[in-house]
Amino acid sequence: MNLGINGKRAVVCASSKGLGLGCARALAGAGVDLVLNARGAEALEAAAAGIRTAFDVEVTAVAADITTEEGRAAVLDAAGDVDILVNNAGGPPPGLWKDWDRDDFIKALDANMLAPIAMIKALVPAMMAQGWGRVVNITSQSVKAPIPQLGLSNAARTGLTGYVAGTSRQVAEKGVTINNLLPGIHATDRADMLDNTVVEKEGISLTEARARRAATIPARRYGTMDEFGATCAFLCSQHAGFIVGQNILLDGGATNATI
Ligand code: NAP
Repeated sequence: MNLGINGKRAVVCASSKGLGLGCARALAGAGVDLVLNARGAEALEAAAAGIRTAFDVEVTAVAADITTEEGRAAVLDAAGDVDILVNNAGGPPPGLWKDWDRDDFIKALDANMLAPIAMIKALVPAMMAQGWGRVVNITSQSVKAPIPQLGLSNAARTGLTGYVAGTSRQVAEKGVTINNLLPGIHATDRADMLDNTVVEKEGISLTEARARRAATIPARRYGTMDEFGATCAFLCSQHAGFIVGQNILLDGGATNATI
C-alpha cells in the first residue's frame, strides 16, 4: 500500500533502538525524512546510518534527553516545522506502590506525560496552519489494563491519554490527528530489562523468563519492532485521517477485554 507520505518530514523521539527505531524505519520506508533522537550518540548515529543506507531519505540525528527542556530545544531547533511527530521516551522503573516518592513521580511525569505534551504544543500549531499533520504517542498497554509493578507508568501515561483525548478533538478540524499506540510486550531492550528483574527475583534463566511471559500472551510470542513501526506508519499515512484520539493496542491479545 502506498502510504501517501513520501517527502514528508518527521521527528521521532527516543528512536535509536526498540519501538522508536521501528517507527523511524517504517516511516523511512514510506519516504519520510527524519529527525531521530536519543541520549546515547553512538547507538543513535548507528541507527541513523542504517536508515540512510537502507532508504533514500534524509536523516538528522540529535543526541539529547527528550525529557528535559534543553533536550527538546535541541531537537526542535534541528527539526523546524514537521508534518509528523512520534513521541516516545524510556519507561519508568518497576517497583512497589508504597515506595515511590514525589521525585519518582515527577521523573515519570516528565518523561511519559509532560515531554510529549511539550512536543505537541511546539509542533502541532504549524501542522494546523498547513492543514495536515500526524502525531503518534507511544504509551503502553498499562493505560488499558494496569501493570501492578509499573505504577509510575500506569499513572503518567494515563495522564497523557487524558490530555490527548481532549486535544485530538480540538485539532482534528485542521487536518491534524493525534493517536496513541499501546505496546504490549515487544522484543526490545526494555523487555529484557523487565524480564531480568524476574530472573533476579526468581532465580530462573532469561530464556525461561521470556517463555513464561510469552505463554501469557494469546499470540504466544513477543511483538516485533517492525510490526509496531508498520502500524505507526499507517497511523501517519494519508489513509488514517479519520482516526482521531484513539488508543490502539498492539499486544498479541494480552489485554483480556471485549472492546
Ligand atoms: P528500549 O528498547 O529501551 O529503547 C528506548 C529508546 O529510547 C532508546 O533509543 C533510548 O536511547 C531512547 N531513550 C530513552 N530515554 C530517552 C530520553 N530521556 N531521551 C531520549 N531518548 C531516550 O525501549 P522500547 O521497548 O522501545 O520502549 C519504548 C517505550 O515503550 C518505553 O516508554 C517503554 O516503557 C514503552 N513500552 C515498551 C514495551 C515493550 O515491551 N518493549 C511495552 C510497553 C511499553 P538512549 O538510552 O540512548 O537515550
